Amino acid sequence: MKKIKVLNVDITPLTKEQLNGEIRGSLKGKRILISKVNSEFLLRSLKSEEFATTLEKFDLNVADGIGVLWAAKYLSLPFLSKKSRITNFKLLITIEAVCQMVYSGASLVFYPKYCRYPIPEAFRGVDMMHLMLDFAEKEKLSVYLFGAPKETLEKTVENIRNDFKNILIAGSRNGYDFKDEEIVKAINDSGAEIIFVALGSPQQEYWIRDNISKLNSIKIAVGEGGSFNFIAGTYKRAPRWMRTLAIEWLWRLFANKNTTTTEKSRISRVWKAVPVFIYQVVRFKLKNK
Ligand code: UDP
Repeated sequence: MKKIKVLNVDITPLTKEQLNGEIRGSLKGKRILISKVNSEFLLRSLKSEEFATTLEKFDLNVADGIGVLWAAKYLSLPFLSKKSRITNFKLLITIEAVCQMVYSGASLVFYPKYCRYPIPEAFRGVDMMHLMLDFAEKEKLSVYLFGAPKETLEKTVENIRNDFKNILIAGSRNGYDFKDEEIVKAINDSGAEIIFVALGSPQQEYWIRDNISKLNSIKIAVGEGGSFNFIAGTYKRAPRWMRTLAIEWLWRLFANKNTTTTEKSRISRVWKAVPVFIYQVVRFKLKNK
């Protein structure tokens, strides 16, 4: 499937149906690595070559969040002023880039369909995990959950068992104080076929990169971020109206404070995920015109 380059990441443009088909199809061949790319990932790909090359090893980099759809759309818009003969070309092209940013951004609220090309759909992290759990249940593939604090993980397992009656959970392990060899052995002993790794990014992508070749029975590995917290109920989802207006990031600013990691505060994360992100995407476009 053709990929769309957004900053330094190749995104696979998929609808939910295509995702299911793609996974089912690939399953017959090699094992599949899936990452869910949000605006923070895209920014990190600009700064860290290691992160960008790690994502190249993933088979499916799925768009997680409307910001990625917007960036793909915005970067795909051609500069009309390129064809003009006006001498102050640099100024003109900058004005055009800003205008494109404003109207493509506004379309997220007033006409969201506009940003559904070249990437047709965004998968919010936890929605995608539900999709994978549904897939696992139907295909009778056993799953392993790795990450999050112990209590969160236990509640996640309990809620998954309640929601997916026939799911095969091969095992689980919290994401703190672990040794790679010990986890790899536990996963291999469990015979799990799908692993969800929720260690936060980029740790989870690096963990998958470094350990996947040792996981004998694993057919699909997914980097999960905070999905376990949403399933456990320790993170709350934004209300539907906020999601519809594409302002879920505002919710992230005030809710779901992560007390379990030493990461920078949510405010700094949202600052990076919204204004810094927009600035960097515009800058990237102007640099690569
Ligand atoms: N986490 C973990 N081990 C660590 C660091 C983080 O298991 O060493 C877990 C953390 O408890 C949380 C998840 O990784 O459940 C990442 O959540 P976060 O909210 O940072 O993810 P995102 O906002 O990227 O979805």
